[in-house]
Amino acid sequence: MADNLVTVAYLGATILFILSLGGLSHPESSRRGNLYGIVGMTIAVLATVSGPRVLAAGLPWIVAALVAGGSVGLYAAKKVQMTQMPELVAIMHSLVGLAACLVGFASYVDTSIVFTGAEKTIHEVEIYLGILIGAVTFSGSVIAFGKLSARIGGKPVLLPGRHWLNLAGLLGVIWFGARFLQAHDVQDGLVPLIVMTVIALLFGVHMVMAIGGADMPVVVSMLNSYSGWAAAATGFMLSNDLLIVTGALVGSSGAILSYIMCRAMNRNFVSVIAGGFGTGEGAAAAAGAQPAGEVTAISAAETAELLRGASNVVIVPGYGMAVAQAQHAVYEITKQLREQDVNVRFGIHPVAGRMPGHMNVLLAEARVPYDIVLEMDEINGDFPDTDVAMVIGANDIVNPAAQEDPTSPIAGMPVLEVWKAKTSVVMKRSMASGYAGVDNPLFYKDNNRMLFGDAKKMLDEVLAALKG
Ligand code: NDP
Repeated sequence: MADNLVTVAYLGATILFILSLGGLSHPESSRRGNLYGIVGMTIAVLATVSGPRVLAAGLPWIVAALVAGGSVGLYAAKKVQMTQMPELVAIMHSLVGLAACLVGFASYVDTSIVFTGAEKTIHEVEIYLGILIGAVTFSGSVIAFGKLSARIGGKPVLLPGRHWLNLAGLLGVIWFGARFLQAHDVQDGLVPLIVMTVIALLFGVHMVMAIGGADMPVVVSMLNSYSGWAAAATGFMLSNDLLIVTGALVGSSGAILSYIMCRAMNRNFVSVIAGGFGTGEGAAAAAGAQPAGEVTAISAAETAELLRGASNVVIVPGYGMAVAQAQHAVYEITKQLREQDVNVRFGIHPVAGRMPGHMNVLLAEARVPYDIVLEMDEINGDFPDTDVAMVIGANDIVNPAAQEDPTSPIAGMPVLEVWKAKTSVVMKRSMASGYAGVDNPLFYKDNNRMLFGDAKKMLDEVLAALKG
């Protein structure tokens, strides 16, 4: 494919990526958004591999890489459970970071193109920054993958003087950067480049290890942003405009998402990144806190009775609904209640589940109408007029300690105020804590009932009782 045709194809792909991002901003248009993304990526890959620069490298290599990468992608897409999506996303981010590092080293040792003067400096700065961002993204994402898949404990690991360690790392990166730019030849420059890569890898590990509890969603979207900037840096190294634009789109949308999530969780972005959530006095207090009082259990039949007698019901789904794959049972109950003229609505917390939009995706899959699915801010004021708030496999997002206990590790995080309803029913299997690992005083409130069991099984029983 001629160079100008490649440029036209890249332009088309860029427009499709922008349309894709626009489509993904709402559940109703998200399928269309995905389709734009798929078409855009197909055009981008075909234009790149059939372009003059890549074909010259040898078709068999390209085909082998496409088949290998495509097979891994297909296998992962088929095998992965919805609840494992965040860990899959994390490990994929790590690959973008690794690619940026490898491309960076390859560009540096590649002697086929010789730069001189200012061009040489710019190229070397691109390489240095590309490898720096790539290495942080790579190791940070691997640790995030470990934490999200519970291969590494979720508790934050805080080294003494960790902020000083980070500062020393930053100064080291600047110093070795200066040495790299002053290097006379490739051999001379490789040493500072490798040392900086090691510092960046260690920094990525340290940064994510220090973050724990409920701050992980911000880290996932932040690494998403880093992976975009790593891709953009790769684009600069390879002089590939499409990669620069795509990387910038991913980088900036990830940064905006991180900001929105921080705002939704009432967290300061810098303090999240500096780490240490869920530690210190707050955690000590939480760990020392004993279950306060007795809980009142309820049966599925009694829950059905409560729901039947209600005029206003708010359902709050969480991670447990996703694990139990209970969304279809939730839909059936909603349908049944709406037929009996009960006003049923859903309250969605921005970090419910294990990825942004997790609950919206599941409810959309189960065909729950969009107009009864409301965001936290839209529904929080309605709980005092709600007869039954039904919490399905959620915990941290309905924890009143966030408002009532300033020493709680989740103090200040906005939560769905289900305890203000006449009765709240919490459906979960045990008294175990949620992702943030903190006790939940909601369970002991007088107007709260616990429906113990797997969410899908319990909802099926509630549905049977409602129908009977
Ligand atoms: P939580 O993790 O707080 O609680 C989920 C609850 O579901 C658990 O207490 C568990 O209790 C219960 N549960 C698990 N399996 C089942 C089942 N089969 N049937 C019924 N209940 C079940 O989830 P929330 O959605 O309330 O909050 C999300 C948490 O995840 C927040 O802390 C958030 O910060 C964090 N997070 C969110 C991300 C995001 O982007 N949304 C990403 C990473 C983390 P039991 O074991 O007793 O059943």
